[in-house]
Amino acid sequence: MEFDIIIEDGNIVDGTGKRDPYIADIGLVGDSIEAIDDLTEAKASQRINASGQVVCPGFVDVHVHSEISLLGGRDQYAAVMQGVTTHLAAPDGFGWAPLPQQLAQELWHYTQFAYGDDKVALNWNTPDEYLNIFEGHIPANLYPQVPHCAVRLGAMGWDARPATTDELKIMERTTRDWLEAGACCLCLGLDYQPSANADLNELVYLSKVAASYDAIYAAHIRYQLIGRKAAWEETIEIAQHAKIPVHISHERVDEVSAEVLERVDRDDIDLTFESYLYPAGMTHLAMMLPMEYQTGSPDEMLLNLENTDVREKSLPYLRDKLGIGNQIIGYNRSGRYIGKLLKDVSKQEGKSNEEFAYDFIREEIAIETFVMPWVTPPDENEKVLNQTACHPRMMIASDGVYNIPHPHPRSYGCFVQYLGKFVRERQLISLKDAVYKMSGFPAERFRLSDRGRIATDLAADIVIFDPDTVADRSTWFDPIQPPVGVNWVFVNGVPVINDGEVTGKLPGKVLRHQK
Ligand SMILES: [Zn+2]
Repeated sequence: MEFDIIIEDGNIVDGTGKRDPYIADIGLVGDSIEAIDDLTEAKASQRINASGQVVCPGFVDVHVHSEISLLGGRDQYAAVMQGVTTHLAAPDGFGWAPLPQQLAQELWHYTQFAYGDDKVALNWNTPDEYLNIFEGHIPANLYPQVPHCAVRLGAMGWDARPATTDELKIMERTTRDWLEAGACCLCLGLDYQPSANADLNELVYLSKVAASYDAIYAAHIRYQLIGRKAAWEETIEIAQHAKIPVHISHERVDEVSAEVLERVDRDDIDLTFESYLYPAGMTHLAMMLPMEYQTGSPDEMLLNLENTDVREKSLPYLRDKLGIGNQIIGYNRSGRYIGKLLKDVSKQEGKSNEEFAYDFIREEIAIETFVMPWVTPPDENEKVLNQTACHPRMMIASDGVYNIPHPHPRSYGCFVQYLGKFVRERQLISLKDAVYKMSGFPAERFRLSDRGRIATDLAADIVIFDPDTVADRSTWFDPIQPPVGVNWVFVNGVPVINDGEVTGKLPGKVLRHQK
């Protein structure tokens, strides 16, 4: 047999989390892994010496705001450079298809804080037509989820109320259309509009539809409305009522979640969660407003914010949420104050933090994104991150935001930080288990049967990295820094990173879950 590529002598960490690393050669033909063996005598068009390096499955990022940036722009390769070969679409339920143009435009405005200067034509009629814009144009694979924001918006607009029976039926139809197009998961952002208005009945109803397609449920849970503990418990309720596996986005193991996780173990709940392992989030300031003032379309919300009474009522609320004002400005419509601290620019404008924040939302027509540090003390944060890093139900996902001037360092660093800091430096978890949390585990959980492992007949999504040097370089104030130590990344058998360099190739496919 003749191979296209042979990867020689690498230390194979196979992504199952079960097998210890072993040395072998891997033979690729076309887009698949054809042999894992001693291939010294075999013929190949190209041989890559991976001696002393780790060869593992491409990483699967289950929560990342990258789908449009994969089509082009400064950050098209930012995630692939870390070894990410599959991206799930529609994180937080953000997705615009198959909405009619006007509604799609309104939702684009609402979600722009997480998509920056990305551009996409909002003209499609079905999930398939939307997915077709990616075929042949992306460096890594894209795997769809059902975008609940679009599902609800299409059925009942921005209305902040429970759905009627008829509206639920319309939502069911769109959910089925997405599942039939290959969506693997019903995905929600329950702090965001319009999904925040969904009641438990709606979530269970749509989850039952998803479960009938062997899809799972994933959510940014309802932190703002009911608080974190109750939001974890609501997710468990959905798992039980709809008999669906559930997954919680961007979470961590601390006192609150540890208590719920004990119950999850005790009652054998089918629950997983993901973490990016940095002590700060990233979102828009609008989320810090009282929920009743966040509702409606962006234009309706902005009109409401003109009311002086609304301003008076919002300021104490914002003051409480913003604390000392150490949030970093990542993006806004006019492009001002990028990379600066909120407290510094407030002072410059002669305003309190909360006055600045309120006015900023209005002036930037709600297109604004901030890095939001945790309010807990740094040593406590490190303790929480360390115990999160090795929790058996945790997988790694970046929540990366791209093509904005000042992203969160996780956009360029999440996966390599895990390998450099948590595996090599702190030795909190073995390489075998860490690779599983970035490949085999997310693939299994989100129903990807032909990826996430190194085995024959599977797709040739492969990363080769140097375990002694692999590390992130992106920081809070210098976040656009590619990693080091990731030398080769193959997507469907094609090198997208070749000896540390971006090749410019676009071998990514749209993946589809088949029941
Ligand atoms: Zn989120």
